[in-house]
Amino acid sequence: MNVVIVGGGSAGRTAAIEAATIGENVTLIEMDKIGGKCLNTGCMVVCGLNDVARFIKNAQKFNQMEITNSNFKIDFEKVAEGIINTTGKIRRVLTSETKKAGVNIVYGNADIKEGLVSVDSKEYPYDKLIIATGSYAFIPPIKGAKYAKIYKDVLDYKDVPRKLIIIGSGTIATEFAGIFSAMGSEVHILSRGSFLKQVDQDIKDYIVKKLLKGVEIHENLTATEIYPDGVLTKSGRLDGDVLLAVGMIPNSELVKELVETGKRGEIIVNKRMETSHPNIYAAGDVVGGIGTTPVARMEGVVAARNACGIAAQVDYRFIPSSISLYYDVSYINSNENGVEGHIPGSAGPGAFWNVLDRETGITKAVVDAEKGDIKGVSSISPSSRTVLAYTSKFMRDGKKTYDFDDFVEAHPSTDAVYKLMRFFSKFG
Ligand SMILES: Cc1cc2nc3c(=O)[nH]c(=O)nc-3n(C[C@H](O)[C@H](O)[C@H](O)COP(=O)(O)OP(=O)(O)OC[C@H]3O[C@@H](n4cnc5c(N)ncnc54)[C@H](O)[C@@H]3O)c2cc1C
Repeated sequence: MNVVIVGGGSAGRTAAIEAATIGENVTLIEMDKIGGKCLNTGCMVVCGLNDVARFIKNAQKFNQMEITNSNFKIDFEKVAEGIINTTGKIRRVLTSETKKAGVNIVYGNADIKEGLVSVDSKEYPYDKLIIATGSYAFIPPIKGAKYAKIYKDVLDYKDVPRKLIIIGSGTIATEFAGIFSAMGSEVHILSRGSFLKQVDQDIKDYIVKKLLKGVEIHENLTATEIYPDGVLTKSGRLDGDVLLAVGMIPNSELVKELVETGKRGEIIVNKRMETSHPNIYAAGDVVGGIGTTPVARMEGVVAARNACGIAAQVDYRFIPSSISLYYDVSYINSNENGVEGHIPGSAGPGAFWNVLDRETGITKAVVDAEKGDIKGVSSISPSSRTVLAYTSKFMRDGKKTYDFDDFVEAHPSTDAVYKLMRFFSKFG
């Protein structure tokens, strides 16, 4: 059977490897770079920048404590060059891994018709097609929006911007604010409504007060015009480079004639990642769901299995989300009520030198004290991403607070989540 996949990002590449492993004849079409947004312009770029930002914060701290006496200046072009070289190296590994799995990679812009995908003048007939074309940055209809940069332009800065105005209120806006503020920019966030409304209020307060200390956050303030060197708002003009981070739009234009799409252009799928067309599946940002790499990968695997005749379903319960700042911020939200508990982060690796300033992070959990059900957890700590991934697995497997009573960690770590669960299991 011919399985054709369009888009070589997290969803498409994972789907391609899965279908090839099952034994089908798989062609993966990518118009730009294997690895998609996550590797080339998104997660890994933020990761590379944030590593430098954290280094600066730590170096400043050690200087302040007179442990070190270092004087350094960031060469932003070198930072960008290092990130581009590193992602290039990872891309070569991913490409070779994909080919080794038996996937035929074709580079070019795919055009999709019934039963056939064409790239330039070559045609690739399909029995099953998986659409994994991702998403692109939403550009709001503000006068002068063309002067603003978006996430994929940040490595083009020649130097750290002296003043930076970030328009947006979500994860990407927050991450760039933390990074550029640590690197020395004067950062303003313009949020049309509430800033970071997806996170718990106590967690938001910690982020604003401790992790974005130097950032000026303007809530309920809209940019009415963007200039090459600033923005106009109803409260006046703000000077600086402008970065837009106001959301992503599913990239589904290519298949609009073949499958049903929703209001934002998202391809409508069921839990098997089947579209309205019996031979077409979709996965990743193009279906307009949670919009993270692990979810795109899960959807890619499910789409590939179903396309190859193996029944599978996605499971969106207790998916962890995260924000990269000086500490990782990770959370599994809950809309349900329960008993709330908070504790400060532990004095583990990455937090030890912040104990004296009482800045070791925070963990908050909501539980059903009687039944032991964990309803939601948010954690700010150097290890919160790892800890919450495991906590998500425990929650999906139906583990209770009392299952942590005899849980053994590796110490020292920042194990506040487990401590809190142990506390709940004993005292409710
Ligand atoms: C700045 C930023 C930071 C992020 N950080 C994180 C993070 O820390 N953690 C996390 O989990 N998620 C993060 N994300 C989200 C994550 O990057 C996406 O959810 C993920 O990349 C989606 O994968 P995808 O395969 O659906 O789409 P994409 O990665 O966008 O891949 C789609 C691919 O399809 C290709 N394509 C499109 N049209 C065609 C065509 N006509 N022909 C051929 N190829 C085509 C594109 O070139 C692209 O390579 C971040 C996103 C951004 C923007």
